[in-house]
Amino acid sequence: NPALTKIGAQMSNLTGVRAIMKDIVETLKANAGQELINLSAGNPLILPAVERLWRDCTADLLASSEYGEVVCRYGSSQGYAPLIEAIANDFNRRYGLKLSDRNILITPGSQTLYFYAANAFGGYTTTGELKQIVLPLSPDYTGYGGICLVPEALIAYKPALDIDESAHRFKYRPDFSQLSISETTGCVIFSRPCNPTGNVLTDEEVRKIAALAAPYDVPVLIDSAYAPPFPALNFTDMSLIFEENIIHCTSLSKAGLPGERIGIAIGNERTIQVLESFQTNASLHSSRYGQAIAARAINSGALAEIAEQVIRPFYQNKFSVLENTLDASMPKDLPWFLHRGEGAIFAWLWLKDLPITDWEFYQELKKVGVIVVPGSTFFPGLKEEWPHKQQCLRISLTGSDEELVTGMRRLAKVAEQAYQGA
Ligand code: PLP
Repeated sequence: NPALTKIGAQMSNLTGVRAIMKDIVETLKANAGQELINLSAGNPLILPAVERLWRDCTADLLASSEYGEVVCRYGSSQGYAPLIEAIANDFNRRYGLKLSDRNILITPGSQTLYFYAANAFGGYTTTGELKQIVLPLSPDYTGYGGICLVPEALIAYKPALDIDESAHRFKYRPDFSQLSISETTGCVIFSRPCNPTGNVLTDEEVRKIAALAAPYDVPVLIDSAYAPPFPALNFTDMSLIFEENIIHCTSLSKAGLPGERIGIAIGNERTIQVLESFQTNASLHSSRYGQAIAARAINSGALAEIAEQVIRPFYQNKFSVLENTLDASMPKDLPWFLHRGEGAIFAWLWLKDLPITDWEFYQELKKVGVIVVPGSTFFPGLKEEWPHKQQCLRISLTGSDEELVTGMRRLAKVAEQAYQGA
């Protein structure tokens, strides 16, 4: 093996959920032929109406004179002009904004966008000061764990817990008594709706975070991979918040186009310019085929319509199936709490005072043919010890209804045994 630099060694380590995926893939291989209920996936399902939409847009592109221009040519780093125009028009009309093309950047997936932002704003300045990447509410997206070339820059804050004991439900809130955003902050990032918890920070909480960051001119990146207008995977009302220091970040991955790698940043011109230059250096630009079909789906209004009428109800129904099954099968006297299902494609279960770790619980569940993701992988940047980190599980809503019902019934039995110390 060639000698690796510090960054090389760091970037060749798998972080968070990617590390667990290896174990899951091996488990699936070792049990081939056996019926395993895999509720670990972050990959959205292929919904027929969504697939049809992208197929139709592709047919339209193929039949147009634009095709050669799209796939046979390099383009600008900022993105394919017709897509940028489609997004500006759509957001201006929907949200009463005055976006111009200079407020928008297209990236190869939104993961890349967070990588650019984390390293443009977080890390050491030319004068040696450490600028932090602040995650205001932990747990949050596991992918934030690997985006920073200076790992010590990533810092996450423990949340406050809103617990409804009798209903066995809870919700995370940002703990504003602890959250610190100051001149040492480089940028702020959070997902809304949140992967893994399904939490949606309230409009007021978002405004408060943006207001804390504004005096220091700190960009606040709102990861809207599950937000409206597409994929519209919010099950509770939420407004999109646009402020001078907010970079609204979205993705077409959960709207049926994960393979085409399309991330979208919307924000002030200065910040977009920084991210665009970073992109020119790192990757030139995103693939143009995906951008050309996305422009069609946004201009016709079909993407937003399918998001609201097909994608959202599909996953909202999955959450109901899961929640009803847990209510019916989890013992009432155990301290289990399901996070309020406010959006995204996951359920988040907290087993308070669990006598075994989340990793051990995951192993026990595997023995009865059910795979979920142990929760401790979703606390990137949270440095302090906190038993809660080892008491949670992420359950993907991408299973069939039957799989969710059977999986949750088995999980209830495993939980009962774990608390009994069996
Ligand atoms: N942000 C969140 C909250 C996600 O769940 C994901 C993917 O699962 C991403 C970002 C990355 O998505 P992509 O790079 O495909 O846009």
